[in-house]
Amino acid sequence: MELIDKIKSSLRPFLIAGPCSAESEEQVHSLITSIAKNTPTQLIRAGIWKPRTRPNSFEGKGDVALKWLVDAGKSVNLPTAVEVANQHHVEAAIEAGIDVLWIGARTTVNPFTVQEIADVLAGTNIPVMIKNPVNPDLELWIGAFERLEKAGINQLVAVHRGFSYYNHLKYRNVPQWEIPISLKERKPEIPIICDPSHIAGNRQLIPVIAQKAMDLNFDGLMIESHLNPETALSDANQQITPFVLKKIIEELVIRRHDISPSVEEKLAEMREKIAILDDRVFEMLSARMKISAEVGNFKRENHITILQQEHWMQIIAKRLETLNELGLTERFVRKVMDEIHQESIRHQTKVMNPGHG
Ligand code: PEP
Ligand code: MN
Repeated sequence: MELIDKIKSSLRPFLIAGPCSAESEEQVHSLITSIAKNTPTQLIRAGIWKPRTRPNSFEGKGDVALKWLVDAGKSVNLPTAVEVANQHHVEAAIEAGIDVLWIGARTTVNPFTVQEIADVLAGTNIPVMIKNPVNPDLELWIGAFERLEKAGINQLVAVHRGFSYYNHLKYRNVPQWEIPISLKERKPEIPIICDPSHIAGNRQLIPVIAQKAMDLNFDGLMIESHLNPETALSDANQQITPFVLKKIIEELVIRRHDISPSVEEKLAEMREKIAILDDRVFEMLSARMKISAEVGNFKRENHITILQQEHWMQIIAKRLETLNELGLTERFVRKVMDEIHQESIRHQTKVMNPGHG
């Protein structure tokens, strides 16, 4: 069965697992045997050529490791995937019998390299997974899909691995979920896999990110696994044993996304109520801004400044008094009030200084 059909027909999550890097023949065999025995993994991943930030880090075992992976995959009857970043990688991986290729985040950023890979792939029917570029640029990600599509590759899968920021406190790569969600809207036929390992950068966050991906209806997960994570030659902080992987997958709550008619009806009713309330919220905001404009007129006639700091502090304080009663958080109320205030100032400025609005 083709990879796309497999992903689409599989119970969610379609699971891809394996080491960050293939380190030795023994490591690849023992790990893959354990993954196959203990987890519901359907595709094995391993890095053979590793794109490292600084030189002198472990850069992967290279071509020799392809056979380790292919043999280990065969021994447990699972297909295998490797990262490719140039023409040689693609040719060597296909020649060795690797089933699926993926383009890493550091490669998706570079249209020349993506084009080089697309050109070598023309005429093959090998499935390719494309990770998002390191920077949050949806068009660049879509461009990579288009280059492969133009080369006739039609088994394409997206992998969301988060976006790079300097010194982010929580994530190694910030998820910015709105970007993969937009990708789904633009390319609904492409299955989408989440890679919680590279988003998290640590073991602890993996379950929460995996759950979030399931709640956002992602098709699958790609998770790095190692028998002795602490000793891994790359990405040691984020790798987990097959046993931990098994537990994380078992504990995921998979919510339905196909809706039965009676559930749909009830949901439609609730959504209608929300739509009516949203209409009212905006009608009221519009009425409020009209009064702001009147206030602007009045201030102009009386030569009063727009911003009356004390008055504004009182308004905020009054709003914060009713937080609990209304069941709203302080952060939300402050944000909404700030936006209302800014908009109100814009309306007043328009009447006070026509042409400056
Ligand atoms: C990887 O999957 O090991 C990898 C290098 O990931 P990314 O391209 O997302 O950084
Ligand atoms: Mn890695």
